[in-house]
Amino acid sequence: MTCRQLGGACDLAFHAETFEKMANLSKVHGQDMFQKSDQAHLDAMNKMQTLMQTPDAMQAWFEEKRKEFDALPED
Ligand SMILES: [Zn+2]
Repeated sequence: MTCRQLGGACDLAFHAETFEKMANLSKVHGQDMFQKSDQAHLDAMNKMQTLMQTPDAMQAWFEEKRKEFDALPED
């Protein structure tokens, strides 16, 4: 899945065996971009933070992304 698919702002692709690992890779990348003050990623993170203020919405988002991940063909 790409950074953008996971709530980020670029097309960097992450490869992992589990959704949790994928989410973690995305998080590490997000922190990296945050340190570089990448504006597109900062905007994307702001949106995610707004989402996180509503636990139900965050949970729904997470489940939706997990389904997207599960639907991906193994490579
Ligand atoms: Zn990115």
